[in-house]
Amino acid sequence: MGYCVFFCHDPKVLRSDRPGIGRDGQCGTCVVGESLAVQGDTAPPIDFLRLGRLTSRRFITFKGENRKTMTESVEQNVNSHSRPTDLKITDMRVAHVFGAPFRAVIIRIDTNQGISGYGEVRDGGSATYALTLKSRIIGENPCNVDKIFRRIKQFGHHARQAGGVCGVEMALMDLAGKAYGVPAYQLAGGKFRDRILCYCDTPTETDGKTMGRRLKERMGQGFSFLKMDVGIGLLREVPNAIIAPPGMLQTQSVMHPFTGIQITEKGIDHLCQYVAHVREEIGYEVPLAVDHFGHIGVESCIRLGKALDQFSLAWYEDMIPWQFPDQWRRLTEAVDTPTCTGEDIYLKEGFEPLFEPRAISVVHPDLASSGGILETKKIGDRAQEAGIAMAMHMAMSPIAALASVHCAAATENFLVLENHSVDNMERWSSLVTGLPVPLIEDGHIAVPEGPGLGFEGLNEDLMKEFQRPEYPGFFEPTEAWDNERAHDRLWS
Ligand SMILES: [Mg+2]
Repeated sequence: MGYCVFFCHDPKVLRSDRPGIGRDGQCGTCVVGESLAVQGDTAPPIDFLRLGRLTSRRFITFKGENRKTMTESVEQNVNSHSRPTDLKITDMRVAHVFGAPFRAVIIRIDTNQGISGYGEVRDGGSATYALTLKSRIIGENPCNVDKIFRRIKQFGHHARQAGGVCGVEMALMDLAGKAYGVPAYQLAGGKFRDRILCYCDTPTETDGKTMGRRLKERMGQGFSFLKMDVGIGLLREVPNAIIAPPGMLQTQSVMHPFTGIQITEKGIDHLCQYVAHVREEIGYEVPLAVDHFGHIGVESCIRLGKALDQFSLAWYEDMIPWQFPDQWRRLTEAVDTPTCTGEDIYLKEGFEPLFEPRAISVVHPDLASSGGILETKKIGDRAQEAGIAMAMHMAMSPIAALASVHCAAATENFLVLENHSVDNMERWSSLVTGLPVPLIEDGHIAVPEGPGLGFEGLNEDLMKEFQRPEYPGFFEPTEAWDNERAHDRLWS
């Protein structure tokens, strides 16, 4: 009688010299192929990697006394995935991280075949947005990504409130890719590029020359697409630069059209001088996007935008809230610089009011708000039909960054992907294993070819360094969410 050890088809397993194994029927994926009799008192050295290259579907028969020894040693490495058609979600757990670069909730979805998928709630979002979905996805086959997405998308909304739905979608794509042994971009139709261009956000500096030097440093790090902030925040100490009703400069919660804040010619001149100093440092050949203009009305946006057109900036970002497509169209038609918004919009239909009238030049979805990998590719494709490029907002851990990378690889009109962790790149990159550190090299992220999102696992020791006492728990049980139920139907 022999004892069967099966090779798993998962390329990650094969690469790591650790065969996926199990007793007959446990693995389920592998079929009987060529057999290899192994005899002797001790476990023989077997070049699993070489065998794995020959075929991922072979078994080895162990005989004699070495059977028990070999069995015990190999069972430590049991990786029983995967028969994708029988894959089922069994659990969802979360871990909180801070400073990567902001507050994030990492989602782990477990299955009945020993594989887990990872996703992430949008920066600053609540774990509740994800956990409320647990009872709605338990027992489902995670490979049915679109079916599950359509079931749960009603529990998302714009900005952070989309974080649960989008984080789950990332984890489903990770699982489906792992189950079938293909990278997530392949599930989205294949790739248009092998490397993803990244732009780096750079926090505000009060002086244009200082900002220019900081951006020059970024270029020295390999970045060839830059972003900075230029807005009324730079004018607080400048006399006669801003006109504002009492209290309006102190509020953050009044939308731009309703603040009554205006910028004066002196204020516009000051900001133009700021950008001129930056351009003197970095030159005119590198794309430079601009964000955080402040809560000024569309008329002030147009006056400022026209004045800044001389600097040929890559785009004006979020000058106006995305909810006002008519004002966006007015702005876009008035200035000669691309206009850009979208980081807080949920689902393709949320973008349509901006696409249909061609109200913007660049759409800027955050995959953790816009609907995950597949929905964001659809958003990019729809934007392309309207003649609009797709840049991608991203201020999260490498998990969401890699989900964005797969989407960017699979979307033809993709332009550039944001990163907020440039000053902490090695530590940030090390949160996941099996990929280069730093993850961004020469201003690009290489599209991973491993299954799912492409990283091998989480660096849990390092993740724990990113925890804070007020958010304890690290992928602890979440039974309290097992039976959350409601009559979820949206129609009668
Ligand atoms: Mg922004």
